Amino acid sequence: MVMNNNNKTRVRFAPSPTGFLHIGSVRTALFNYLFAKHNDGKFLLRIEDTDTDRSSEKMIDNILQSLKWLGLDYDENYVKQSDNIEKHKKAANDLLEKGKAYRCFCTKEELQKDKLKVESENGYYKYSGKCRKLTNKQIKEKLSQGKKFAIRFKTPPGITKFKDKVFKNISVNNSEIDDFIIVRSDGSSTYNLAVVVDDSDMEITHVIRGEDHLSNTPKQILLYLALNRTVPKFAHVPLITDSEKSRLSKRTGAVSVEEYRKMGFTPEGLINGLVHLGWGTSHNKTIFTMKELVNKFELNRVNKKRAVFDVEKIKWINGKHISTMSTQKLFPLVVENWKNNSLITKEKIKTDEKRLLAIIELLKSRMRLIPDFSIYGKYFFEDPKKYEKDAIRKHWTKEKVKILLAKLIEEFDNIDDFNLQTSEEVVRRIASENKVKAGVLIHALRLAVTGFSISPSIFDVLILIGKNKVIKRIKSSLEFGEKNGIFI
Ligand code: GLU
Repeated sequence: MVMNNNNKTRVRFAPSPTGFLHIGSVRTALFNYLFAKHNDGKFLLRIEDTDTDRSSEKMIDNILQSLKWLGLDYDENYVKQSDNIEKHKKAANDLLEKGKAYRCFCTKEELQKDKLKVESENGYYKYSGKCRKLTNKQIKEKLSQGKKFAIRFKTPPGITKFKDKVFKNISVNNSEIDDFIIVRSDGSSTYNLAVVVDDSDMEITHVIRGEDHLSNTPKQILLYLALNRTVPKFAHVPLITDSEKSRLSKRTGAVSVEEYRKMGFTPEGLINGLVHLGWGTSHNKTIFTMKELVNKFELNRVNKKRAVFDVEKIKWINGKHISTMSTQKLFPLVVENWKNNSLITKEKIKTDEKRLLAIIELLKSRMRLIPDFSIYGKYFFEDPKKYEKDAIRKHWTKEKVKILLAKLIEEFDNIDDFNLQTSEEVVRRIASENKVKAGVLIHALRLAVTGFSISPSIFDVLILIGKNKVIKRIKSSLEFGEKNGIFI
């Protein structure tokens, strides 16, 4: 029996590189990662690339890049399942030799015919076990005729029980499991055999994977026992669904990590959003750092109820992470986005660094995704092209607004040192001299300078835009108001 030599927790994430890394798979990877780190164990990666028609190097790359971006660093070198093909074959041959598996010469057509017959009688199809009964002589004969065969596992009678860490006590009567194929007639091993051999060779102590594999587990336990290998512990994590309770799919939104990265999620925000899909804490805390998650994560808090993916909630969580991230750390992400939206040039990133950092610092408590810095911060780089309609009605159609703004142009122009104090002092003085609340002028000014009804503190905004541009924008807003008959 193969024993884990130091009893340390070893888990693995085993994606098939047949598509871009799916957000649901990341949740599985995350639970594995957190469980390993919480228990001071190892988080391993195995790329299940034996389906050569559907696997590709490009997708392996995508998996590696995505895990790296998320900060889910794996331990040791990653394992490629295709490197273990000989080991899978050897295990199948051992089972054959020990009489725990047998050759099945049934053709596809024969099996299909049996299946249709059973189904037409409303039965549940299961391989009949026909080839189990072949004599040595019959087998030899078929082999000498060059007949192709698959290898089937000889499912023993009895009951297979295991305690899943999430789904609790599972018990399956082996009579419900047919003699399943472990090696196909083309010589390739099936998933159940390959996964058992690899998990055992990698000394995996806990298999944490999606609920969709729950029905494979009894078969795998039977294989572990037949191969005389240690059975690991199992935890099946609930499926993630969309709001209509169907499996997350491209049809209803983004599914790959790549898409979420492009949408402007941060790794910290996405991880924190995904952890709530199936995992519950004992208190009402939502925002966690990776360190806190590692500290707190336990499998017994994983719920078997299917988890509904709510992208708005994850955006909100992402925003919380953006607001606490250091401005230095946000800087490369945000300037990249500004550059892509043609708000700044590459040169400006260097020459204007101080100002750009100040803008990020000012905006970060209100942004949910990185592109929000471009959407809601574009006025730092270009004059507003339009003004919020509702805000026009609310803030510019008040008595005196036109006079107040005109006065502001004059007074701002007279300030030599345009800073937080001097600009605020002027705004408040003009309001008071004209017997209006300061808010009236501040709202009108904000709309003129940013085009929006909401922004960070207007005085911080004014300073970062600069006196001349501020004056120019107030003038433009007056012209706009005049042209459209807005002011009274
Ligand atoms: N390659 C399988 C999958 O992506 C792995 C299943 C497992 O973890 O055993 O579903």
